[in-house]
Amino acid sequence: CGIVGYVGHRSAQDVVVEGLRRLEYRGYDSAGVALVEAGRIEWRKRAGKLANLEKVISEEPLPGTTIGIGHTRWATHGAPNDRNAHPHLGHGRRVAVVHNGIIENFDDLRARLEDDDHHLVSETDTEVAAHLLELQVASGEDLTTAMQRVCQMLEGAFTLVAVDAQDPDRVVAARRNSPLVVGVGEGENFLGSDVAAFIEHTREALELGQDQVVTITRDAVSVTDFAGREVEAKAYHVDWDL
Ligand code: GLU
Repeated sequence: CGIVGYVGHRSAQDVVVEGLRRLEYRGYDSAGVALVEAGRIEWRKRAGKLANLEKVISEEPLPGTTIGIGHTRWATHGAPNDRNAHPHLGHGRRVAVVHNGIIENFDDLRARLEDDDHHLVSETDTEVAAHLLELQVASGEDLTTAMQRVCQMLEGAFTLVAVDAQDPDRVVAARRNSPLVVGVGEGENFLGSDVAAFIEHTREALELGQDQVVTITRDAVSVTDFAGREVEAKAYHVDWDL
């Protein structure tokens, strides 16, 4: 239901959890974060309020890294429990993904993955995206290309945000019939399901169109369509108050 992504120079845990708090008004049943540190994905997720997530983070601290993603879930497929909470990981725990919306053809994709000996651990429609992204990066594609390819396989409405443990400099997101905005900072960039996720850090935003993929690094934002063609995003200044 709410999505945050960050790469920059601050504590990603702080920016992401704070962003999730700003998105709480949308309602949710679970929350989670994933960070990239030293070639690994570190993640924590819990059903219930953000306080439950914060409790597990305080008991099992996360690394002080500056790249991460976060999610508040409003369950559509699978009960609101810890296992179905996002992020979801690929088979080698190299890619972590969070998702808003519904992947309509997940059953089909899941059956194909399971035929190929993939073991999926949740009941969500989301987990197939993590496995498909990880297959792409494991075959040598960068996460941006992986996202473009996987989006072409998906039906439904989705905002996806992903990180790759082997690529600690970029967060990649995509949208189809589901909201996603970019917050443009200095030496840092943000993703959010709405501007509330990052408005305390920047008011410079980019609006994405339908069926677009965005890659943020510390210093750059680039946008393509699902076929990989570069497109121009519309910049705007957020001038409303929270
Ligand atoms: N369909 C996904 C799930 O049930 C995402 C729901 C959401 O938008 O939070 O896990």
